Amino acid sequence: MQDKYNIDSHKLSLHPVRVAKWYEAKDDWEKLKKIYPIYVEISPYGGCNHRCTFCALDYMGYENIGLDFDVLKNTISNMAKNGVKSIMFAGEGEPLLFKNLDLIVEHSSKVGIDTSLTTNFVPLNKKNIQRCIENCSWIKVSLNAGTAQSYADIHQTKEEDFDRVLSNLKYALEYRKENNLKCTVGVQMLLLPENKDEVKNLAEICREIGVDYLVVKPYSQHLSSKTTKYKDIDYSQMLHIEDELNSISDDNFNIVFRANTMKKYVQKKQSYDKCHSTPFFWGYIAADGKVFGCSAYLGKDEFCYGNIYDNSFEEIWESEKRKKSYEYVQNELDIKNCRVNCRMDEVNRYLYRLKKPQEHDNFI
Ligand code: SF4
Repeated sequence: MQDKYNIDSHKLSLHPVRVAKWYEAKDDWEKLKKIYPIYVEISPYGGCNHRCTFCALDYMGYENIGLDFDVLKNTISNMAKNGVKSIMFAGEGEPLLFKNLDLIVEHSSKVGIDTSLTTNFVPLNKKNIQRCIENCSWIKVSLNAGTAQSYADIHQTKEEDFDRVLSNLKYALEYRKENNLKCTVGVQMLLLPENKDEVKNLAEICREIGVDYLVVKPYSQHLSSKTTKYKDIDYSQMLHIEDELNSISDDNFNIVFRANTMKKYVQKKQSYDKCHSTPFFWGYIAADGKVFGCSAYLGKDEFCYGNIYDNSFEEIWESEKRKKSYEYVQNELDIKNCRVNCRMDEVNRYLYRLKKPQEHDNFI
């Protein structure tokens, strides 16, 4: 199946200059501290209108707190100045519940950062979404069922929300078309025992509406999540679903069935023993303003470098706390305890390989 956006792999190799700076810095912290993330996830709002059964961040408590508008805006300007290239607005809560998300997204674009949004797409305010479609590179809707009843069970909400998401998707696609905009609009389904028989149905619905892609990905147990009922899903029993989807994909509608990631989840093997992506190539800003180096360790002091209410992004990123975190990740962290298939898994495989040259590497 075609994976036009490289969703089931990674794109760090497309940023050779940043990678070379990291590589050549070796263990010199004065150089390493200047390696800024390419990608940052921001949680503008902590609360959520849903309680999905698989939510990895349930332990964060869904607190109804939002980032201060001006603090966030200044932080984003500072991030741009230091070379951050993309932001995904998502996080512990539903980003569309953040009142002026559209203005933040617009500001991010103005300062040269590519933006995106991951949302359940229920609380749609037209003003908010229009400017998001105008400015975002992509919007991905978390829609984890092919029928209203399963949707209500999995998202732990009312059945009407299912139709609401579909009509909001139609609205977004119409708005994009009428205004000749480029924003990619996709849907993501987390494959679970409860929805495995509805993937085809959801794919057909998405294609009919005119969504650009459907990505079907596996669950991954978060270390701190209170939910453990999905931790042993055997995806080897679900790989055949990919064949059922082949006939639905076409030139305008791309289905990305993340079989590579599913197989890795079943094998539970890591081909590396050190993490090199943290604290360098990505970052996370939580709804309370704390800056973390890894989204799998939110709330853990070892991965927290500071707070945007106290310091600029630059001060936080070049701080002693981040240096300590780097030393911790290099010398103490046992990545066997990390989340299987963490967001940086493919990036880590690539960086680890760079650190461990092999015999024939020079025969390019
Ligand atoms: S979860 Fe992944 S990115 Fe985070 S520290 Fe572990 S290996 Fe690194």
